[in-house]
Amino acid sequence: MTIPIPTDEEERLKALDRYKVLDTPAEEAFDKITRLAVQMLDVPIALVSLIDRDRQWFLSRQGLDVAETSREVAFCAHAICGFGPLLVPDATADARFVNNPLVTGDPKIKFYAGAPLQSPDGHNLGTLCVIDRKPRAFSDDQLQLLTQLATMVTEQFEVRLAGQQAVKELLEQEAHSQELRHLAMTDPLTNAPNRRAFFEFGEKEWHRAKRYGIPLSLLAIDVDHFKHLNDTLGHSAGDDALKAIVDCINSSLRTHDVFGRMGGEEFTILIPHTDVSSARVLADRLREQLSTICIENSIKPWRITVSIGVTECFPDRETLEDALQRADAMLYVAKQRGRDRVECHVAA
Ligand code: GH3
Ligand code: MG
Ligand code: MG
Repeated sequence: MTIPIPTDEEERLKALDRYKVLDTPAEEAFDKITRLAVQMLDVPIALVSLIDRDRQWFLSRQGLDVAETSREVAFCAHAICGFGPLLVPDATADARFVNNPLVTGDPKIKFYAGAPLQSPDGHNLGTLCVIDRKPRAFSDDQLQLLTQLATMVTEQFEVRLAGQQAVKELLEQEAHSQELRHLAMTDPLTNAPNRRAFFEFGEKEWHRAKRYGIPLSLLAIDVDHFKHLNDTLGHSAGDDALKAIVDCINSSLRTHDVFGRMGGEEFTILIPHTDVSSARVLADRLREQLSTICIENSIKPWRITVSIGVTECFPDRETLEDALQRADAMLYVAKQRGRDRVECHVAA
């Protein structure tokens, strides 16, 4: 048996693919149309058949149990080659179908009428067809009805496509704005949260601490003699050092800690649930961990040290900026007292 192939076959398959309807679960919207066809045209079988490259697949079916057949035996494969509906009043009297296994065997097709499912750009994707096991005549009115039902199927395709595209656009917009937000909040060199991110998340913890009376401490960290490192080993070794410092700090953070690269070689960490004496212990541990970083280079092994200013915060009577200033003042004291050390603000 030769399979008739429409002249627009490749474009047609692409159009079919666009609608994403092949191998989808049964849908009431299409079943409603085939049920209507059965009732109004008084036939035992009505199908929405989509012609894929090698098969016909039934998007909706009434009165037939198979989900698909080969394209070779499909009446609908013929129907999609014409411009209008295909009418076969008696398949046993039609040379194209007399030896078709669907005629000689089950479901013993005698009568077939199929209206093409035409996409808006003119490709026949399949048919809405009705089948009977006895020969029949079909009036012009009936043929027109079948054609109108076929139009309802393709309209439904368009509705689905528009819905899918709307969802896709929404998801893309969402991903794009997430990406922009991430970019706006992240320091590109180290991937650490930037100053803006620190304040955004910091203010949240600040208000939480204020509302629930949670103790809150703040660390201001500055790398010692960083300019000297840059001048001696080069700017890119300096960049490597900053990345290593951020990795080290990240691995020591707890869930609610708010960390940020505030600029240059300066970092801050806001630590909830922590009073000033615990914060001092954490700061000293962090200082020791950071001092294990060694910047490999061809000149000489270079160890990092940092100075840290620590203060307790008082969200009920000051702002995050106030606390930052105090932590910076303590950082300045640490620098004055010889660097590589932690200085803690003691409340008067
Ligand atoms: P101190 O111990 O007093 O803090 O001395 P310092 O040299 O660390 O401080 P200073 O503020 O004099 O120098 C900071 C240097 O950090 C100067 C600047 O060029 C360098 N720096 C700032 N941002 C970056 C960066 O992204 N990459 C590199 N490689 N260097 C940076
Ligand atoms: Mg410094
Ligand atoms: Mg500095």
